Amino acid sequence: MLTQNLGYPRIGSQRQLKKANEQYWAGKIDLNELTQVARTIKEENWQTQLAAGIDLIPCNDFSFYDQVLDTSLLLGVIPQRYAPLLAKAKGNGEMDLYFAMARGYQKEGLDLTAMEMTKWLDTNYHYIVPEFTATQEFKILSEKIFREYTSAKALLGPKAKPVLVGPVSYLLLGKEKEAGFERADLVKKLVPVYVEIINRLRQLGATWIQLDEPCLALDLSKKEKEAFDYAYRRIASQVSGVRLLVATYFEALADNTQLAVNLPIDALHIDLVRAPGQLDEVLARIPEQLQLSLGVVDGRNVWKNDYERSLTLIDKAVQKIGADRVIVAPSCSLLHSPIDLDLETAIDPEIRNWMAFAKQKLDEVSALKQIAEGNNAPLPANQQAQASRRASQKVHKAAVKNRVGAITEADATRTSAFPVRQQLHHRRFNLPAFPTTTIGSFPQTDDIRQLRAKLKSGELTVAQYEKSIEQATIDAIRWQEELGIDVLVHGEFERNDMVEYFGEQLDGFLFTKNGWVQSYGSRCVKPPVIYGDVSRPKDMTVRWSTFAAAQTDKPMKGMLTGPVTILQWSFVRDDQSREQTTNQIALAIRDEVLALEKAGIGIIQIDEAAIREGLPLRKAKRAQYLAWAVKAFRISAGGVEDKTQIHTHMCYSEFNDIIEHIAAMDADVITIETSRSQMELLQAFAHFDYPNEIGPGVYDIHSPRVPTTHEMAALLAKAASLLPARHLWVNPDCGLKTRKWPETKAALENMVAAARQARQTI
Ligand code: GLN
Ligand code: ZN
Repeated sequence: MLTQNLGYPRIGSQRQLKKANEQYWAGKIDLNELTQVARTIKEENWQTQLAAGIDLIPCNDFSFYDQVLDTSLLLGVIPQRYAPLLAKAKGNGEMDLYFAMARGYQKEGLDLTAMEMTKWLDTNYHYIVPEFTATQEFKILSEKIFREYTSAKALLGPKAKPVLVGPVSYLLLGKEKEAGFERADLVKKLVPVYVEIINRLRQLGATWIQLDEPCLALDLSKKEKEAFDYAYRRIASQVSGVRLLVATYFEALADNTQLAVNLPIDALHIDLVRAPGQLDEVLARIPEQLQLSLGVVDGRNVWKNDYERSLTLIDKAVQKIGADRVIVAPSCSLLHSPIDLDLETAIDPEIRNWMAFAKQKLDEVSALKQIAEGNNAPLPANQQAQASRRASQKVHKAAVKNRVGAITEADATRTSAFPVRQQLHHRRFNLPAFPTTTIGSFPQTDDIRQLRAKLKSGELTVAQYEKSIEQATIDAIRWQEELGIDVLVHGEFERNDMVEYFGEQLDGFLFTKNGWVQSYGSRCVKPPVIYGDVSRPKDMTVRWSTFAAAQTDKPMKGMLTGPVTILQWSFVRDDQSREQTTNQIALAIRDEVLALEKAGIGIIQIDEAAIREGLPLRKAKRAQYLAWAVKAFRISAGGVEDKTQIHTHMCYSEFNDIIEHIAAMDADVITIETSRSQMELLQAFAHFDYPNEIGPGVYDIHSPRVPTTHEMAALLAKAASLLPARHLWVNPDCGLKTRKWPETKAALENMVAAARQARQTI
């Protein structure tokens, strides 16, 4: 029996890579220094994996920015606009080209935009989307993978296993940049280059090569399935003397099982954390020579593995195919895990004993192999930890569970239907047509961040801190009034982050000091950990909302983050369903909504930025997810009186396929991101005859550019041609937290002018 790892975090336990990259971009360190930081991280990672007793250790999983971008460089897939940098890409110039593709390039008279970035399947990691043309050619451009393998081999010998994105997933995760071809058809041109790469790695000494093919676990068309078959048959016919491992993760192979197990490869990796049920199907069809890598240790979460459960799976596989064909592994690359639990000295020791980060997960993989081979030494401590977690009063709160169990359909339903509520709202708030508002946050300037840092370090008392936040809030209210905004916000100056702020005040959450995970490039996130039943010990936002409301006669929106978004942006429990956890959060938010209503706040916004991104990868699972996700929102909003207006906000608003579920949320007003699509995304709402009110964003907040009144008025006119004018609100695409004040004021001034123009037209 072997053990393996599929990938290790590359940011460094102190985010060294982030810091070095940013210094390199700022011209503060040179390429040599940057490369040195990278080398240290890689060597430490390899040593850690060696020490943990892992048999097949990944290399080339390191990346300065993103492994898919690395693959584009490896294969020479360089969009035409970078031609001037491509010419210089030999030697040191390669990094200029690389970072230009990742981040854009404005130097030496060139102004090149960055390539598009999107989420890596259902993770919060973002990759750089390959761009293909009809005449796309492929050839080895970058030597990085060969360099990485050579240095890994020097340290690890035959344990060094180069990793790269497989040919078919590489194509499928990219995009056609012109009409007239399908990217899956490029496989014929692409495969010879993979053959060349594999042969070169073999010549350098590689004995195993890992090809990541996560798309094998997605819904595939006939053509896409054929591409897999074609690619691996061609590779097998032209490569020998090296073992090929195809890695799948995040979903079950399901209808692709037959295809996957019959690929002419040496080993197949399957994710048994997300999809334990697929083991039976795979074992029933596995051909005689294929080795099976069992992804039993969760690479996407922070919990200790349940050895007994994993061993059931391992034993089943061993019985069917023999121990020498079994490989024990994490479910996916550990890129998505925080790095080292040993650094978390402040976590409650009882809870910490239930947790494992990347480094600890390697030990778990080794321990599982030991136990499977008959050495039970690691088992008792693990059983004890599992038992302690199962029984702990820190996790289990009967009152919370009972309350979730007692949720009724009525709890999730407003008293009257929308038309009745709408009339009440129009009378109560007496807003003009095309009412103006914003999404919640205003610029989080250095001043504001400093205040929080000083509060933490003890330089400011709570009273001093609050006084300054109050002043920032008052200032923001004054100028919203001056500008003529109709529904005001308090600005969210008191919040560090829209999830953390609530997590810190809810029971059942904990926070790490160093639990960083790469999100994209040098950007890392530190998600909260939900370890126990969630409840709300006291009011969370009432103090700031009522303070703000008291400063003005205009309506002041209360601002909350919704249950699905809090779930989606946290590490969640693996001992109960996501639905269950979401319902607990929904009840906590519901109580906060009711507290705000009771305190006189008439308009309450519950942000559900992440509902779309929580959508399961497989279409067959989406309806079920949407049912509970939408219901959770309705539970959080459903307790208010008809006269209270509930808003929601969503960032990424590609709703074509799920519009009926968005409508089922029954928010009185939804604000969405639409400006960059020129209101295209509003079509889905129009076709569906979306019944409630809607604020399609009229300007892109991701850029400092100030849009003109004319431009925004044109977008509003377009919106009014698609939906009833009296249903429309006027607002930016999202919160303004990342913007500076001057551009924010200028843009909102133009936005209010655009709304006034629109009012003239009805
Ligand atoms: N209310 C939040 C804000 O304005 C919403 C942010 C978001 O949707 N990502 O910052
Ligand atoms: Zn948003």
